[in-house]
Amino acid sequence: MATEGDAVAENTRGFNEGRYESTGRLDDYESLKDEARAIKEDAIERLPDLIDQVRETVEANGGTVYIADDAEDANQYITELTAERRDADRLVKSKSMTSEEIEVNEALAEAGVDVVETDLGEWVLQVADEAPSHIVAPAIHKSREAIAELFAERFDPEDPPETAEELTMFARERLGELVEDADVGMTGANFIAADSGTLLLVTSEGNARKTVTATDTHVAVAGVEKLVPTVEDFSPFVELIGRSGTGQDVTSYISTLTPPVDSPVPDFEADADALADGSAEDRDFHLVLIDNGRMSMRDDEELKETLYCIRCSACSNACGNFQSVGGHAFGGETYSGGIATGWEAGIEGLDTAAEFNDLCTGCSRCVPACPVGIDIPWINTVVRDRVNRGEVKSRQTDWVFEELVPDEEPAGLDLGTRFVGNYETVAKLGSLTAPLSNKLADVGPLRALTERVTGIDRRRDLPAFASETLVDWFEGRGGAAVPVEEAERTAVLYPDTATNYVDVERGKAAVRALETLGVHLRIPEVSGSGRPPLSQGMIASATAKAEDVYAGLVTHVDAGRDVVVIEPSDLAMFRSEYERLLPESSFERLADASYDVMEYLFGLIENGGDPAALRAPAAGTGPVASGNRVAYHPHCQARTIGVGEHATAVMERLGYDVRVSDTECCGMAGSFGYKTDYYELSMDVGEPIEAQFGDTDRTVVASGTSCGEQLDALLGSAPMHPVELVAPRE
Ligand code: SF4
Repeated sequence: MATEGDAVAENTRGFNEGRYESTGRLDDYESLKDEARAIKEDAIERLPDLIDQVRETVEANGGTVYIADDAEDANQYITELTAERRDADRLVKSKSMTSEEIEVNEALAEAGVDVVETDLGEWVLQVADEAPSHIVAPAIHKSREAIAELFAERFDPEDPPETAEELTMFARERLGELVEDADVGMTGANFIAADSGTLLLVTSEGNARKTVTATDTHVAVAGVEKLVPTVEDFSPFVELIGRSGTGQDVTSYISTLTPPVDSPVPDFEADADALADGSAEDRDFHLVLIDNGRMSMRDDEELKETLYCIRCSACSNACGNFQSVGGHAFGGETYSGGIATGWEAGIEGLDTAAEFNDLCTGCSRCVPACPVGIDIPWINTVVRDRVNRGEVKSRQTDWVFEELVPDEEPAGLDLGTRFVGNYETVAKLGSLTAPLSNKLADVGPLRALTERVTGIDRRRDLPAFASETLVDWFEGRGGAAVPVEEAERTAVLYPDTATNYVDVERGKAAVRALETLGVHLRIPEVSGSGRPPLSQGMIASATAKAEDVYAGLVTHVDAGRDVVVIEPSDLAMFRSEYERLLPESSFERLADASYDVMEYLFGLIENGGDPAALRAPAAGTGPVASGNRVAYHPHCQARTIGVGEHATAVMERLGYDVRVSDTECCGMAGSFGYKTDYYELSMDVGEPIEAQFGDTDRTVVASGTSCGEQLDALLGSAPMHPVELVAPRE
């Protein structure tokens, strides 16, 4: 898959860093987010009433409201108003995603109206005849050099501008002339207060103000979801928009206006007094509110959350894949990034959303970034599930695989999807038949066949299955070493698929570490968490797994035993995704009882456990003997659920010097990097972590199975799980 170049990576990572810094300065960040979310939930709930109310208030102000069913309806109204009633030659526009969505520029051009974008980035794209690639910074993919080249080619200036300042001045001068000659101004609206008809416009360049005031006719185009009840409701969003999107504490221009605005219409021809010849009464205002699928999204319990989106772009900036590929690849007709799946599915349809939906790997790093708390990966999963169910194509060999691994999914589901989604079955079979299965998996022609049939890239090392599972090993050694009557705590070690069938050693290390701190352990045979099927959009299969897991663990939870989880993506299922898959009380009971293994060790030490029982650097062997310096990559989902830092805390407590990776993602994110279609992208996303850890002599540790595999591929040696680092030797 093509990546979009350094400019996107540099800018999005810069925005993302800025978000961390700016939101970090807020004491009440989480409560602001809750407030913003509550306002949107309430507004979408009351949307029909707010539409009626805004119609009344805007009309009372002297403006007009038009509710457009779809893009065609909106464009018909706008072109008739502009080209026929106003006989306009030129319309100037301030950046608006909704107007991109309805493609109003094209409609106006057909009607003979010259449309000029006044946002600098949008104007660059208009000159280049390209589409935006980012919600907030539309020309983010263009470097300064590329823009200089473009201006030189299109305008052939005597003294071609080169520096950022020269380019800005060049654009400003041209745009200034074009604005003076305009007849109509068009803006979007970040929010609209229904009780007063007031618009909130947040921009970096102040061009929205010019667009509104330079002409006598203002058309504001916005989706119906932009309505909020009152002007007071703007407040948390003003705090959150800039910080979330570009990391600015406050966006450069924040305008609240209640059109028709009470300022005279300028006469640019008048030399002496440009404002003498106009008054506010000469102004005309039209609010075009667009449905275009939004009211149906409101009725769709899964897609409804998309309407809470305030289009800040934080989810794009936080996304490792977006940082690499940019919005042209990771986007649809209009919207880009993680939340674009919801928008495009609702507005354009599943086909458009399906084109880029796979680029959401479910790593979940966008979730804490979203100022209105949208579960973006879940929306992507739902859309993937719908795509799976809608694209039922029978392939000749499908029945073989379906017989082998029956699941809850529709017949004919893509084989690669089904293979990855049924990884637990594959692992079980692989372990039962190991070491033969491992030998066969390495045979060149078989890898080529696997690649052809399942799409699993042959450049990836396949996991080697263990012939003795963790459960069998534990049973074979006689179960718990710490008797229950002598134990500090009693716990169940959850035998996740990767630990049980592949990386048994990290399971044994977890047993040693927990027992040395006095934990009475059990390791029952329990189903896989359902993470692989969920990652493939196989929600019914994932739900069946969640129910099995709950059935397997509930008696232990009832008996007061803690559930300790080694694989962070499985713990994230228990604490997050199971909320969607299990009854509320079941979800809460399991989530409350579950802990990450490093979080659990941290808790044991904090509550009097002796850290000296664990392995400190001096006692290390092998790579650990080279010193106490560790490079640690916390798993993305572990960070999202707030357990990424416990490993650091435990390692530091034991005396390790820990350097934590500062990348959002290793590029693997579950099954994603295995697939041939995404192998190159996965390696590209991993580049920053390779740059950070590749040239150090530190011992690399990583908590997630997929992070470990990716770091192995990037650095040439497999990292260990933190619990393997700190567990006493056998
Ligand atoms: S989904 Fe959230 S983070 Fe993404 S653009 Fe919308 S509001 Fe911003």
